[in-house]
Amino acid sequence: MLALAKVSPGPGATIQHREIPIPKDNEVLLSIKIAAICGTDLHIYSWNHWAATANVQIPGIMGHECVGEVVDVGKNVTSLTKGDRVSVETHIPCGHCHLCLNGKSHICENLQLFGLHTNGCFAEYATVPEICARKIPSSIPDEIASVLEPLGVGVHAAQKADIKGKRVAVLGAGPIGIFSASACMALGAESVSISDIQTSRLKVALECTEVTTWNPISVKSSDVLSGHNTPDVIIETTGNERALQEALPHLRKGGQVVLAGLFAGNVALNLSSDLIFKEATFYGIHGRRMWSTWDLMEDLISNNKLNIKPALTHHLSLEDYAKAFQIAHSGEGVKVLLTP
Ligand code: ZN
Repeated sequence: MLALAKVSPGPGATIQHREIPIPKDNEVLLSIKIAAICGTDLHIYSWNHWAATANVQIPGIMGHECVGEVVDVGKNVTSLTKGDRVSVETHIPCGHCHLCLNGKSHICENLQLFGLHTNGCFAEYATVPEICARKIPSSIPDEIASVLEPLGVGVHAAQKADIKGKRVAVLGAGPIGIFSASACMALGAESVSISDIQTSRLKVALECTEVTTWNPISVKSSDVLSGHNTPDVIIETTGNERALQEALPHLRKGGQVVLAGLFAGNVALNLSSDLIFKEATFYGIHGRRMWSTWDLMEDLISNNKLNIKPALTHHLSLEDYAKAFQIAHSGEGVKVLLTP
């Protein structure tokens, strides 16, 4: 089979011909229909500081967002059979730690990540633990099913802040920002505004959902996030220190901040004025809840409350990976899909 692998530390990746893997007792073998490039893949591809310290399996096949068809099952697999169409949950829980036993398996103490700590899905076939293979309703098309994993981050962000009736500011109109904004509107936010320094991404956000947009290069945050638009909730998806620093002073007292973007290092914040005196609540989120976020997300899509198709801006073949990564890296594309 064809696979895109990271063969050594450093920038880039390599197309390889590999044997089709054989599923272990608790695994299924997927024929990958569509995979999607995540920000994490960009970090690993360019091999930045985060990637160098993330314990990435090398050599290993990249990729973790995908939809595929089950073509073989291990002997202990009971919930899936050949022909089932599944999306993959990246978080591989151990199933027996304190967090797994208390409904928080998505942040398992022994968490492994599909496509980072194991071989991933930028390939014609991939093996996945049964526990991470989510059967998808036939009403959800393949392209949408390929991005349920990142969409789930946005839905989880909206769930976390209980955004019904709230005014929300989303920082960043990359995939997670647009998915968060879409989820907030679908779940009953009063209003959502979204920022990005790329106007093309703000246009995509407007095609997906009913938001107001602002470009912090040309408009001051204080002009946007004030008066009637003072946010009850800020969802941060950029991982950019300055974006967070500029937005936090505008958070309403008693407000909530959901942090989803990954920061490269320490972040300097004025905790006295921006958190303590406001009695603000800060949340970090990692991935999605297993499986309440997936249940909610599938309901929203099936009831036409989430329209994320405009965010799937590019679709290339796996062999065109260099071009695909360039499009995703430049910000020209929002979500870039690959077909093996
Ligand atoms: Zn666990």
